[in-house]
Amino acid sequence: AKMTRDEVLSQVDDLGVRFVLLWFTDIVGNIKSVMIPSSRLPAVIDNGIAFDGSAIEGFARVAESDMLLVPDLSTFAILPWNNDDHNRTARFICTIHTPDGEPFKGDPRYALQRAISAAEEMGFRYMTGMELEFFMFYTDDYGKPVLDAPQDNAAYFDLSNEPAQAVRRDMLSTLEGLHIGVDTAHSETGRGQHEIDIAYSEALVSADHLVTTRVALKTVAQQHRLHCTFMPRPMADMPGSGLHTHQSLHDLETGANVFFDPTHPYGLSETARYFLAGQLAHARAMCAILAPLVNSYKRLGTSFEAPVYVTWAHINRGALIRVPGVGEEHGEHTRLEMRCPDPSTNPYLAKAAMLMAGLEGIRQKLPLPEAREESLFARPSGRMRHVDILPSSLAEALEVMSTDDVVLNALGPYISDRYADAKHQEFDSYNEQITPWEIERYLNRF
Ligand code: GLN
Ligand code: MG
Ligand code: MG
Ligand code: MG
Repeated sequence: AKMTRDEVLSQVDDLGVRFVLLWFTDIVGNIKSVMIPSSRLPAVIDNGIAFDGSAIEGFARVAESDMLLVPDLSTFAILPWNNDDHNRTARFICTIHTPDGEPFKGDPRYALQRAISAAEEMGFRYMTGMELEFFMFYTDDYGKPVLDAPQDNAAYFDLSNEPAQAVRRDMLSTLEGLHIGVDTAHSETGRGQHEIDIAYSEALVSADHLVTTRVALKTVAQQHRLHCTFMPRPMADMPGSGLHTHQSLHDLETGANVFFDPTHPYGLSETARYFLAGQLAHARAMCAILAPLVNSYKRLGTSFEAPVYVTWAHINRGALIRVPGVGEEHGEHTRLEMRCPDPSTNPYLAKAAMLMAGLEGIRQKLPLPEAREESLFARPSGRMRHVDILPSSLAEALEVMSTDDVVLNALGPYISDRYADAKHQEFDSYNEQITPWEIERYLNRF
C-alpha cells in the first residue's frame, strides 16, 4: 500500500514500534539488514542512511564505497515474530542510492525497476505468482539440521501429520501478518518437502514477497525447532525444490490480461506467443540467474519433474514453460509457468531477466516453436534433435549467459560482471572438491 511519510511515522508511533530493520539484497540474493532505533526513522526517511555499498557485491566484494539506503515506504511491515511491546520491530525494503541521490546500478531491485519501466513504456504491467517449494528437517540439540531426519513422510498432497499442519498454519498466519497473500499450501513429493503458493502481484511486490517469505518461513520453522531450507536439492534420493513462476502481462490502463485470446488453441494471444518465444530463446542463458547454485544443476535435468528441455507445452510437466489451463475457460488467468527457477534465486534479477527476455520476443516478433506434449523428462544419452537442452552445470550456464546480451542488459554491466565473478568463484571452489563418489568410483579401479 502506498503510504506517505507522515502516515508511516504515525503508525510507528501508534503501534509502539521500537526498532526498524532496513533490508536490501546483495547481487547473489542474500538479505542484508541494518537496524536503527525507531527514533532515527524520520531522519532516515528524509536523508537515507549511509552504508558500505560494497556489501552488495556478494563474494566478489572489493572496495569500500559510500552508498545510501532509502526505505521504500510502501514496504512497511511489522515483523510478526518481533511483535511484543519490548521488541516490536518494523522492516522496510530499501532502494540504494549513490551519495548524489541517483539510483545505484549495483542494486538488484533497481535492475527489476528498470525492466518494469521498459514494460511500462510498451504499455504493459508484469504480474507474477510463485510456487515456493522447500524442505524441513529436525534439528539436534545445537539447532543444527539433521539431514536424515526430514520433518514428515507425507507425499504429494498427502494430509500431513498434525505437527506439520501446525507449522504450516503458523507459516500462513505469519505471512498474513506481513500482508503476503497465499493461494494454497500443501505437502510436496519429497519427505519433509512442502509447497506454499504465493499469490499473484505486480512483479516488484512479488520479488519483495519472496525475499520476506524466505525469512518468515525460516523463522517459523526455527520456532518449531525445525530447519527450513530453500537449497535446490538437499537429498539425492528426493526431488529438488523449485520456484515455478507464473507470469502474465496486463494492459497498463485497463488491467486486462493481454496474454488471453480465446480463438487460439492454447488461449494465447500474439503478444503471449512472442513473449513465450523470447523466454525460450534466452532460457539457457537465464539459467545462470534462475538456477544460480552449483546445487541447482542437481535438480534441473536430473530430478523428478524438473525441466530438462527448452520446450513449452500444456500438460507436459517436463516442459520448461507450461500453459496451465487452456483456451476459453482461462480468460483473465491466462499465464505462462516458467519451471526452471529454484527458490535460491535472487528474485529481483530473476524477474528482470524473465521480463526482458519476454519483451525482446515481442519486439523481435519471434516465431514460437511447436508445443511438445510428449514426455520429455529423461535426459537422453544422445541429444534430441531440434530441441535445446538446459545447461547441465552452473559453469555451462555462465558460459551461455556471457554471450547473451539480452540477459546481460537486464542485469546491467555493473551487476552482470560482479555476478559472473562471484558465481565463477563458487563453481571453481566446488570443482576443487574431491567427492566421496569419485573416491568410491575411481580409487580402486585406477
Ligand atoms: N519439485 C519439482 C521441481 O523441482 C516440481 C514438482 C511439482 O510441483 N509438480 O520443479
Ligand atoms: Mg504446485
Ligand atoms: Mg510443486
Ligand atoms: Mg507448478
